[in-house]
Amino acid sequence: MSQQGYVATPPYSQAQPGMGGYPAGFGSAPAQPLYRHYGGPPQSFPAPPTGMMKPVSSPSGMPPPQVPSHYGSNGQQNGAHPQSYPAPPYGQPLQSPYHSMAHQGPPPAQQLTNQMGAMNLGYGPGPVQSPQAPPTSHLTQQQFQTAPPTAMGHPPMGPHSSQMAHPQSPLAGPTMAGPQSMGGPPPMGGMGRPFPGPPPPGAGGFQQPGPGAAGPPGHPQQLQGQFGGQMAGPGMAGPGMAGPGMAGPGMAGPFQGGAAQMAGPPQKKLDPDSIPSTTQVIEDDQAKRGGQVYTTNLRGQVPPLVTTDYTVQDQGNASPRFMRCTTYSFPCTADLAKQCQVPLATIIKPFATVPKNETPMYVVNHGETGPIRCNRCKAYMCPYMQFTDGGRRYQCGFCNCVNEVPAFYFQHLDHMGKRVDFYERPELSLGSYEFAATLDYCKNNKPASPPAYIFMIDVSYANIKSGLVRLVCDELKTLLDNLPREDGAESSMVKVGFVTYNKILHFYNVKSALAQPQMMVVSDTAEMFVPLLDGFLVNFQESRAVINNLLDQIPDMFADTNESETVFAPVIQAGVEALKAAECSGKLFIFHSSIPTAEAPGKLKNRDDKKLINTEKEKTLFQPQKAVYEQLSKDCVSQGCSVDLFLFPSQYVDIATMGDVATHTGGSVFKYSNFQVERDGQHFLSDLRKDVEKAIGFDAIMRVRTSTGFRATDFFGAIHMNNTTDVEMAAVDCDKAVTVEFKHDDTLSEETGALMQCALLYTTISGQRRLRIHNLSLNCSAQLSELYKSCETDALVNFFAKSAYRAMLNQPLKTVKEILVNQAAHMLACYRKNCASPSAASQLILPDAMKVFPVYLNSLLKTGPLVGSAELSTDDRAHQRLSTTAMGVEDTQLLLYPRLIPLHNMDVASDVVPTPVRCSEERLTDAGMFLLENGCSLFLWLGQACPPEMIQSIFNVPSLAHVPVDLRSLPELDNPQSQKLRSIIDSLLDQRPSSMKLMIVKQKDRSEIMFRQHLVEDKGLHGGASYMDFLCYVHREIRQVLT
Ligand SMILES: [Zn+2]
Repeated sequence: MSQQGYVATPPYSQAQPGMGGYPAGFGSAPAQPLYRHYGGPPQSFPAPPTGMMKPVSSPSGMPPPQVPSHYGSNGQQNGAHPQSYPAPPYGQPLQSPYHSMAHQGPPPAQQLTNQMGAMNLGYGPGPVQSPQAPPTSHLTQQQFQTAPPTAMGHPPMGPHSSQMAHPQSPLAGPTMAGPQSMGGPPPMGGMGRPFPGPPPPGAGGFQQPGPGAAGPPGHPQQLQGQFGGQMAGPGMAGPGMAGPGMAGPGMAGPFQGGAAQMAGPPQKKLDPDSIPSTTQVIEDDQAKRGGQVYTTNLRGQVPPLVTTDYTVQDQGNASPRFMRCTTYSFPCTADLAKQCQVPLATIIKPFATVPKNETPMYVVNHGETGPIRCNRCKAYMCPYMQFTDGGRRYQCGFCNCVNEVPAFYFQHLDHMGKRVDFYERPELSLGSYEFAATLDYCKNNKPASPPAYIFMIDVSYANIKSGLVRLVCDELKTLLDNLPREDGAESSMVKVGFVTYNKILHFYNVKSALAQPQMMVVSDTAEMFVPLLDGFLVNFQESRAVINNLLDQIPDMFADTNESETVFAPVIQAGVEALKAAECSGKLFIFHSSIPTAEAPGKLKNRDDKKLINTEKEKTLFQPQKAVYEQLSKDCVSQGCSVDLFLFPSQYVDIATMGDVATHTGGSVFKYSNFQVERDGQHFLSDLRKDVEKAIGFDAIMRVRTSTGFRATDFFGAIHMNNTTDVEMAAVDCDKAVTVEFKHDDTLSEETGALMQCALLYTTISGQRRLRIHNLSLNCSAQLSELYKSCETDALVNFFAKSAYRAMLNQPLKTVKEILVNQAAHMLACYRKNCASPSAASQLILPDAMKVFPVYLNSLLKTGPLVGSAELSTDDRAHQRLSTTAMGVEDTQLLLYPRLIPLHNMDVASDVVPTPVRCSEERLTDAGMFLLENGCSLFLWLGQACPPEMIQSIFNVPSLAHVPVDLRSLPELDNPQSQKLRSIIDSLLDQRPSSMKLMIVKQKDRSEIMFRQHLVEDKGLHGGASYMDFLCYVHREIRQVLT
């Protein structure tokens, strides 16, 4: 479909009643413009003085806008795709083949009753609701019935004793335990304490009322399948395990098995297919919304999932690629927000990559006075400004201030009150666009310069010996031809510079006039300075010969080095000083091997201490060493100097500290442990290429403005903040996202909704100063059911991951995990109390839009940073913590629910990637072959009984035993299986922000452990519950909240 032009619907020029007063509490001193106006001519913009730089053609290829305004019509917002689904038949008998039956064994300690019918229905309408939803709830519900807290006196039983119930059965019957007795034995010995800690309010020893706990009668149903494969068995603690004493403080655990719990005969297993499936949710959304055009013309519209393949047409709200919210309907009051505890947050990825078939960003130039902004709140001209008085004034949608329209910007209104140039101005009709910034938006009122990339190579013994230095130098000779450039530009304007270092630093003069590069050494690292200005930062095209000469020489110059000590902070300091001297922003690419122990500022010592794990002091492992590094971050940010760190450690390097500057400057940390060129070289080079070539902006400052009644209160990302409102980023690239949390400071109006505008001032890759604007309008409702209906689980999980990873710097892990679970339980309990149809307490009821939230949350709790296991490397945990902080929703989704792709029966004739299956060991088959990827790791798993023909076609060896496990890429064989598999892998690698190292894993091999820890529905290898157990645990927490 052609996306040449853009079309816009007119929904934004409708009257917005319900104007409120300007909130005094908004931001800090709104009268102070964030960016001042400037009266001079625009810099570097040869475009017409006003209007867009790019031509706007008439709508082409896209259907004309049809949808009239839905502003103010709160009931309609989600009606973008009219539903033909029948209303879910709540209250009606559901046709389920599953029935519950009294256990044949000992008195059933619990029944895990599952409402299959309801669950299937839950996969229907999704966030877009049928207008005929049942009266009690406008939501599709997930209903599960899990056990009431077990009678402590009963023999504890695992989930395997669970049975399905007939969903519509009367909720009474002999199968559920009656009133639960108190005071049984203490929590079982040998159990882990995944969420131990002080008792949450109301925890501990509550009594489960009988009727609610009663299970429905029904017919016996033997359930097939098992879950938690590797942990199945008698030792397994099950959901039913929880006694009153366990549900609370000493939630000791149903998560860790213990032989003590086993009692009674072998137990039946709950069908794992019966609990909500992430892969199913993804498939359903793809089936329903995949391949479609998502037009952003409706306020509060819930977008397709991040995993769905869709095309965006901007019609007044930012694409979900740029902004994605935890819910698209905010509660009207702070009380409601507090009650439901659903975080109100937006994940903003300002430079998100836009597919080629979507409209690129338009650049608007308002001439010498700069972009038009509200006089009071300084919001930029956008679709939420209402023109009045014949076009002479406009009312700000954010603060309601009435502003005069500048003479040059005046335009008549049509009979609908819409400016007649509406469709010609992106800032009136689109959600996202850019403004050309004037000198007032530049540092010291001077035009910005193109950024510089400085390559800083650790040439100490380890990097020389591993061959890394030669690898980097060889690669740069070709890579520098691909430096990012402005669209349509012939070459990149990015300048480059080179430094090598060990204990001392070597700068290189690579001026094009030189026949040979010149080295200048700085050995006093305490007072870092740059020994040369002219010739250090150069244009690669002009200095190609000298640079190539240098890159040829570097590996040889240090070939005989014995120096194993390195400095680190002075290296970054040198980079900052160089950019400062050149008066430009830029990025440092640092290739570093070891913990910096040489005598110099920022010297570090090994402070790794596994004894701290699971103690109050564990958090200190992740706290960066301050002092030097904190100041360094500030220096970097104020200069617009981003740091990308490529680490090649053979042991602990204190990533918590070394990565700190990178993660405060919009940079990334890459880690290649025990690097070997032959094995890991391609993986590293792919990362380096992507990193050097990616779209990026520099010296950025972001401000999120909101309409009255709420405001941005917290920010998570690779950012730096000097005050409470301005988000500073030395650089921001296409993969970096900032998660912004909002809080109420007044009542929100259903009429006007909740509007937000993200303005990012930055320097382009060619040195132009621009403002990138993203606008988004959400609904507001006094009905919590609207909020739950409009939730986005993937966005919620992103928020929870980032907030937990930040909290772990200051709180013990167990507290962090408790808070996570408590908040989740409150969210789900509030839904149940206020939005769900009445049902037995024994039923677990989840809002449709959050039905897979528990599996993600459980996966988060099992991630390296939060799991607290001495078996994991502290650096790996710190690395994951830092990387996640800057992730967008796509990345956290994949990280927490990896894709497990069956390959053994793929259709080689089709281009389609086989549909992923659930991340559980039981989905694997001995004769199968699976690919697993989570954005960081990529595994090819080979079953023990993998057919030799399959092995032959992929690996060109006769049997599984012959497959070399240290392969890092597959042989290029000329057969359909090989071609198909390699093309799948290539396309996965292409889609991800960083490269993934391919690891071949054979079933039952030792290396399988690495693979299995990504099977997130199973019990964690380093602790943590299976999905099934966790669901039951959450259910118990919910019931506690409700009692
Ligand atoms: Zn305003």
